[in-house]
Amino acid sequence: MRQEEDEFGNYLKKQGLKFTPERVVVLDKVLSFKKHFNADDLYESIHKYNKKISRATVYRTIPLLVESGLIIETLRCQGRVSYERVIGFEHHDHMVCLGCGKIIEFKDDRLEELQAEICERYEFKQVEHRLGIRGYCKECVAKGLGKG
Ligand SMILES: [Zn+2]
Ligand SMILES: [Zn+2]
Repeated sequence: MRQEEDEFGNYLKKQGLKFTPERVVVLDKVLSFKKHFNADDLYESIHKYNKKISRATVYRTIPLLVESGLIIETLRCQGRVSYERVIGFEHHDHMVCLGCGKIIEFKDDRLEELQAEICERYEFKQVEHRLGIRGYCKECVAKGLGKG
C-alpha cells in the first residue's frame, strides 16, 4: 500500500494538487478492493463509515487515480465504468454480461501471442491492451436473454 500512496502523492504533487485527507480515504478504499468496482460502489463503501466524503469528491478523485496509473478503466457496460487496481494484479481480459453485469476474467496465452504478432505486423509497439467481450453469461442465456 505504501508504494501506491507514494506514487499517488508524487503524481498529485506534479499536478500541483494536494494529497488531502479526503484523497487518502478514497485511495485507501480503492486499495482494499480485490475486484472490479465502479464509482458508486466506491462511494457507497466509503459512505458507510465516513459521511464527510462527498460523492463529488469520490467522482473527482477517480480520474486522478486513473491518470496516476494506479487503477485502469476495465470496461464500460450500460453507462457504468468498472475500474480495477493495476499494481500486483496480473494482466487479464474481461467478458461482461449485459444481463446481470457479471464480469468474467480470463487470460489465454494464444490470444496474448496473437496480439503481439498482430502488433509486429503493423510495426506497432504495444504498451498495453484491454479486451472486453460483451454478451450474456450462462445463467442469463438460460433465462432466455440474448436470443437472436
Ligand atoms: Zn448474466
Ligand atoms: Zn479484471
